[in-house]
Amino acid sequence: MKLKVSEIPEEGIDVDEQTSIGLNEHETQASVRLHIDKRGPQVFVKGTVEAGMLLMCSRCLQEFARDVSMPVDLVYNPVEEMEEERGAIGKKELDMGFYREDEIDTDVIAAEQLLLNVPIKVLCNEACKGICPGCGRDLNVEGCACPAGEKTSSKFDELKKYFKGNN
Ligand SMILES: [Zn+2]
Ligand SMILES: [Zn+2]
Repeated sequence: MKLKVSEIPEEGIDVDEQTSIGLNEHETQASVRLHIDKRGPQVFVKGTVEAGMLLMCSRCLQEFARDVSMPVDLVYNPVEEMEEERGAIGKKELDMGFYREDEIDTDVIAAEQLLLNVPIKVLCNEACKGICPGCGRDLNVEGCACPAGEKTSSKFDELKKYFKGNN
């Protein structure tokens, strides 16, 4: 939903909507609940964004859906003002965004928050067996005939094997 900053009333505005946003090339249904108000040119955005995201398991590399809920607490400044004061401001402050030409788009805010906060390492299931390093089979789907040692092979195990072999 696009909002004109100049039209946000003094008491602020509540956004509560179901929307479809593009995340990593997937159209994702998101539930956006935000309270937006302003003080001078600064816009304050608070609330939560929820979406059923498509994530990739870091162990078996399969995509899976998971409901993700992100708290939002952000301050937006007009980018025009930022450009005037360039030089006076050093590093961009965390949790500070910019809006352009009097416009705030809650879909963009929701997408940014979800993408920024997705965990990098995530498992489809705590018990995920992962992929056999020996033959590449997804061990959640099928077994394989590789020796047990190879299925859990890690750098450390390789090292142990190496030393055993030399004894
Ligand atoms: Zn997995
Ligand atoms: Zn195998």
